[in-house]
Amino acid sequence: MRALRRFTVRAALPEALTPLSQLVMNLRWSWHAETRDLFEALDPELWQTCGNDPVKVLGEVSAERLATLSRDRRFLRHLQDAVDDLEDYLSSAHWYQSLGPDAPRSIAYFSAEFGITEVLPQYSGGLGILAGDHLKAASDLGVPLIGVGLLYRAGYFEQGLSADGWQLERYPSLDPHGLPVKLLRQPDGSTVVVSVPLPEGRTLHAHVWRAQVGRVSLLLLDSDIEENAPAERGVTDRLYGGDEDHRLRQEMLLGIGGVRAVRAYCQLTGTPQPEVFHANEGHAGFQGVERIRELTESHGLSFAEALQAVRAGTVFTTHTPVPAGIDRFPRTLIERYFAGFGVPLEHLIPLGSEDDPSKFNMAHMGLRLGQRANGVSQLHGHVSRSMFSDLWPGFDQGDVPIGSITNGVHAPTWTARELVELGTQTSSEGDPFEGQGPASFDGVDRIPSGELWTTRRMLRGRLVDEVRRRLRETALSRGAAEAEVGWTDTAFDPDVLTIGFARRVPSYKRLTLMLRDPERLRALLLDPERPVQLVIAGKSHPADDGGKQLIQQMVKFADDPAIRHRIAFLPGYDIGMARYLYWGCDVWLNNPLRPLEACGTSGMKAALNGGLNLSIRDGWWDEWFDGQNGWSIPTADGVDDHDRRDDVEARAIYDLLSTQVVPRFYETDRDGVPSRWVEMVRHTLRETGPKVLATRMVRDYVEHLYVPAAGSARTMADGGYAPARDEAQWRARLQENWSGVRVAHVEATGGGDTPEIGSTLALRAEVELPHLTPADIEVQAAYGRVDDADGLHEVTTVPMAHEHTEGSRHWFTATVPLERTGAFGYTVRVLPHSEHLADPAELGLVRSA
Ligand SMILES: *Cc1c(COP(=O)(O)O)cnc(C)c1O
Repeated sequence: MRALRRFTVRAALPEALTPLSQLVMNLRWSWHAETRDLFEALDPELWQTCGNDPVKVLGEVSAERLATLSRDRRFLRHLQDAVDDLEDYLSSAHWYQSLGPDAPRSIAYFSAEFGITEVLPQYSGGLGILAGDHLKAASDLGVPLIGVGLLYRAGYFEQGLSADGWQLERYPSLDPHGLPVKLLRQPDGSTVVVSVPLPEGRTLHAHVWRAQVGRVSLLLLDSDIEENAPAERGVTDRLYGGDEDHRLRQEMLLGIGGVRAVRAYCQLTGTPQPEVFHANEGHAGFQGVERIRELTESHGLSFAEALQAVRAGTVFTTHTPVPAGIDRFPRTLIERYFAGFGVPLEHLIPLGSEDDPSKFNMAHMGLRLGQRANGVSQLHGHVSRSMFSDLWPGFDQGDVPIGSITNGVHAPTWTARELVELGTQTSSEGDPFEGQGPASFDGVDRIPSGELWTTRRMLRGRLVDEVRRRLRETALSRGAAEAEVGWTDTAFDPDVLTIGFARRVPSYKRLTLMLRDPERLRALLLDPERPVQLVIAGKSHPADDGGKQLIQQMVKFADDPAIRHRIAFLPGYDIGMARYLYWGCDVWLNNPLRPLEACGTSGMKAALNGGLNLSIRDGWWDEWFDGQNGWSIPTADGVDDHDRRDDVEARAIYDLLSTQVVPRFYETDRDGVPSRWVEMVRHTLRETGPKVLATRMVRDYVEHLYVPAAGSARTMADGGYAPARDEAQWRARLQENWSGVRVAHVEATGGGDTPEIGSTLALRAEVELPHLTPADIEVQAAYGRVDDADGLHEVTTVPMAHEHTEGSRHWFTATVPLERTGAFGYTVRVLPHSEHLADPAELGLVRSA
């Protein structure tokens, strides 16, 4: 029989232990070792069997054990320390509190997934982990963020393997009452219900669960409630499951329901309403549509006026360098769902328009609704400017208004405690993110090489134990008998060079590239003197049979009794497994098809633990590979034939391993320490460590995006949104008259026939501006190196000064210095100008001579 519903019955906590329920409900325990120690001490054996889940432990620990502990003075002291520490963490001033009144009073951060702890499995991969790390780092810095997402009743999925290596998916259903979340309630105790209108007069309702991530609240909407009809109950069933219709309902709940949940939460808790809304990827785009609807109803703004007010306070982050990865819906589906929503379709549809008129593009909507947008590494910023350049026709790719902030990872979550205790994250300048400029963890220089090496070996050994445990479990689950799994007890070796490769399995990540020449890989694994061992993990999207075939190929290779003690594919990649890998791997391998890895963060987590990266120069590694923190795999970028490209790049990996990585690892000094290796580890911890921190990332978001966005949003809202009205009017006037704008004539004087370096050129431009004034525009002189086709490169622009006006004709002048030798070119262009623009390309209007 199957149970209709399940819930957890907890032993009542004795009076002296009641603070435990406060500790368990704040997810800070997921990155605070001392609090975890406390939960472990409740019942060390249970802690193991419950998979280090404090909520489960509290649910299962016996009343007798609790009674004993309530009289145990050491335990009580320990408990009090943890409570005091948390209180202090929550109430003291951090970096953000030093910013002053320009900083937003609160910020809403929307994401379809959040990876905070394996206990709350609401993530599929990097995007979710990044969102989780964003919240944690915001909490550490005191940033008043509110997270907004969905509570999926079956999370993503649990991964198993069949006997022949095919991925199996399980969807165990989560009981929210057994999770570290609580319902958002009205003062009278009733549950807050958020509603979103659906077509045909239906309504989607949701409850709001609140998870506490340090200082930051995370609101998770849940549609599996009695108020809903059966079809609507299933909306939050799974992450990235179901058809287009299903996905659209999820995204409407996330965006529209999310804004409504934030409104309710702020009102009930006295939290200031957000001044900035950050959409982490396109899924959350409808939050902007809902805010437009709010303003048209509350302040009588037109769509265009409300759009200006909303854009000003919106930040959009894109994570997808592949056009196929972008979230799009059939336009007709959007028309059906939004017909009665309250934002006219004639205005809504253009927000998501793209090349294909039958599609509604969520990334395009994100860019049109966010005045500020960014990619997630420098290279990805570059790729995004090119990928989305169609939205800004007439502009060079370099002028496309998408910047970049490189991702980071939350050090307290991902660094082995032993390394922190050794001093790998101390700096003589204090916390590197309280100060300015580049930082380094110079504390690592004081750690003797022997100790660093011993700790690294201990972490490798811990990984080996974990691999053995999982290998055994997996073999049994795939049908092996007890008597056949003895080999797992001695599989892997704590003294062998250990390489990790773990990530989702979309084709661009090339899980099986290392199998390109199986004999060469085998030879590396089985080298009698200097072997390597490989730990591999990753989930394929349930609908992606191609990915599952790659996994199967890998599993079959690793099943070979001749090599299975040196290579393992472990099913069930999640935060809980990932930690062991980042702690224990000597080398972190990453071989995506450049430039399709937007950033990648797993290698950063390895680096925080002294792991050396062996990676294609893609994402973050393109930026921060410095020759001493690992190895860069040369790419065959220009080669279009994927097969050949794979051959070339795989060969490069084998070559690097056998000629550089392996020799360096096994070349030890008289004390048995591979000193040159340890120097690379030291360098990585000291130099790469501080760069990859999520606190660096969140600080960048605050300084470069949140604070300016709050400024723009406040300006727009002034005096009952008067500036938003003016701005909308101004934009309409510009759009209407732009076709008449013309650079009629440009003349240059000075420089002579063959100008010399150091001389100057005086430019004078005549510009036609029908129905516009010089104040509406900026005229720029743009100059730089010129190629054979007259293309300008390394362009510098200077504003030209208004000289005089005759009717609709205006003259502008500038002086251009001739600062370099060689082919030089210039042009003149006209751009819209207003104090409210964050970027001159924003309106997509430009006119060049
Ligand atoms: C860090 C992490 C990821 C993302 O790794 P990438 O390098 O971006 O592919 C995915 N899953 C888990 C469990 C992680 O910890």
